[in-house]
Amino acid sequence: MKRSVGAACALLLGALALSGCEEAFGDTFGEGERGITATMLVGADGDHANWISHGRTYSEQRYSPLAQIDAGNVGELGLAWHADMDTARGQEATPLVIDGRLYLTTAWSKVKAFDAATGEPLWSYDPEVPGETAVKACCDVVNRGLAAWGDALFLGTLDGRLVALDRDTGEVLWEKVTVDQSQSYTVTGAPRVIDGKIIIGNGGAEFGVRGYVAAYDAADGEELWRFYTVPAGTEGEDGSATAYLQRAAETWNTDVLAGSDAIGGGGTVWDSMAYDPDLDLLYIGVGNGSPWNRAYRSPGEDGTGEGDNLYLSSIVAIRPDTGEYVWHYQTTPGETWDYTATQHIILADMEIDGEMREVLMQAPKNGFFYVIDRATGEFISAEPYVAVNWAEGIDPETGRPIENPETRIDKTGEPALVTPGALGGHNWHPMAYHPGENLVYIPAFEAGMMYAPESDWKPDRARGFNVGFDLGAGDLPPDMGIRREVAGTLRGMLVAWDPVAQEPRWSVEHPGPWNGGVLATGGGLVFQGTAGSEFNAYDASSGERLWSFDAQTGVVAPPVTYTVDGEQYVAVLAGWGGAYALSVDGEVMARKAPVRNVSRLLVFKLGGAAALPAEKALASLPLDPPASRASAETIALGQQKYARYCAVCHAPGAVGSTVLPDLRRSGTLGARESWMAVVHDGILEDNGMASFAGSLSREEIEAIRAYVIHRANEDREMEGRVNQPGKVARR
Ligand code: CA
Repeated sequence: MKRSVGAACALLLGALALSGCEEAFGDTFGEGERGITATMLVGADGDHANWISHGRTYSEQRYSPLAQIDAGNVGELGLAWHADMDTARGQEATPLVIDGRLYLTTAWSKVKAFDAATGEPLWSYDPEVPGETAVKACCDVVNRGLAAWGDALFLGTLDGRLVALDRDTGEVLWEKVTVDQSQSYTVTGAPRVIDGKIIIGNGGAEFGVRGYVAAYDAADGEELWRFYTVPAGTEGEDGSATAYLQRAAETWNTDVLAGSDAIGGGGTVWDSMAYDPDLDLLYIGVGNGSPWNRAYRSPGEDGTGEGDNLYLSSIVAIRPDTGEYVWHYQTTPGETWDYTATQHIILADMEIDGEMREVLMQAPKNGFFYVIDRATGEFISAEPYVAVNWAEGIDPETGRPIENPETRIDKTGEPALVTPGALGGHNWHPMAYHPGENLVYIPAFEAGMMYAPESDWKPDRARGFNVGFDLGAGDLPPDMGIRREVAGTLRGMLVAWDPVAQEPRWSVEHPGPWNGGVLATGGGLVFQGTAGSEFNAYDASSGERLWSFDAQTGVVAPPVTYTVDGEQYVAVLAGWGGAYALSVDGEVMARKAPVRNVSRLLVFKLGGAAALPAEKALASLPLDPPASRASAETIALGQQKYARYCAVCHAPGAVGSTVLPDLRRSGTLGARESWMAVVHDGILEDNGMASFAGSLSREEIEAIRAYVIHRANEDREMEGRVNQPGKVARR
């Protein structure tokens, strides 16, 4: 049935190609065609005016044929309107544009609707996610977007609900809890919709959950199927009888998935999906293992760690009607480095070795760019798109990596500096594919990581990172020279990758990692925001920068383009946040790029003459901690607990990230009771700082305070040395 819908639409679009595909849909929908239908979604590429699904089309190419704004006139692009958001955390959403209206999600899973031409606010919706949900989120309280079907929009909230909203009013039509909310599941990804089924995944692999993707009826939220990505721990548990999970179970030590000390295994599907309507295959990207350290998931008979641990770090093809498994390709067998394959999946057809191939492309965290046959899952090719030291290459016969044994830390038990690190060579930031250039634009970066296996690790599914590595091992000493040296190894770049030749055609260097998602257009342009507070347009063939706008904030979200009454617009949600922003040393980042968080939608058109309000100056308080009097033993205990429970949000080594409060400057540092009220009693729960009383004793919480005081004193001394070189003692 799907095949006939796809084929009919292709024919329709083919027939109209000469007169311009947008006329098949126009700027506005016809009478009685207001709601989004299967035909519209399958034919979305011909609907130039709108942006009706997450990656614009089911192929997720993020390429718009719109060509009114082109290399010749992009210099005249100016701000048409902007809208300030009421959240100040990471903004990662792709807006949808339907019939002259723009819909987007923000941090804390809020939804807003605007007139896409004028910026007039139409409605907003706040799902009132409980603040304490923030401590279940590895990577900020972000949300990446909506799905549209019929007259409704569909949102996944951070606390795991799927919400259907009336597209006209923002009223809730129904909502459904899609996860066990007693566990650390979160939802940040955009749902997708296939023929009236809303497909949604979840996150939480750092915290010990079991990953799955599920389908819900768009009409009423009834769950239609659930596809688990990792085996069940016990017989009779969900999915334990299915053949594909029984095959997976042979690649795990399933003992660790059962019992009171159980871990969920991870494998969460927290972002990418794509759909081929002709093959009727839904592709999902599967995340990392829980814990990261494979030695705890798959100890093996001799305790050396073996097993591929299917379907971690895999691309899996399933039937959208039933959730039936069809094929998989595992990018990182026996994953142990947080090398998710949840990164953006793009579908395209291209000639390879003289043959037209239907391919699927991905640049997962592990640093290799993969081209896979999307009908069969057959490996075609892979080459590194960033510096990689964990594998020499991918064996073309087996499609398996040729590993560097020194970086197989789960087996050696020894610390190792591995590239890419846990943030990957490319993270969630969407790529774009330009079919005319046959190039994939990758928002890539280089940030290696020190992995130190933790001995005698025990899971704690209540709070904190469950990774099986000592996250404090990579903390830098209080030496600005060393910190700058390390910062110098951090790179961020936009890479224009030729998927046939498997090599870059051009690349552009950015000041640091964690730059924005990408849009490619028929005007021969590539748009991308940067961590360095720019929003840029590049020539799609040469990489020459043709236009730049001062966004006043880091931009990580991907842009979209659309038309209203025949006029082309480009829109991007600005605002700095997400995993890297939470973990990077704020001082170091500030030296590489002046990052601040101003959460704001920016919309551009040719001749746009609007302006942003003047920038506020960045305030930087001097470090003024109380004296450090705790014993070395207490500080060491505090360091260990900080690394596991605090570092993911407040930066490793308590260096102060660029998004959340810098604990070295906290007023509670010198006030034992206040510190305890926050960390133990959870008085700031509504802000996202939940109680850690279930995981940390009062003594441990006090030790963390001692550690942060110690670190603040170290850094004050360091800054004194940096800021007053050679200065004689003051009077
Ligand atoms: Ca992860």
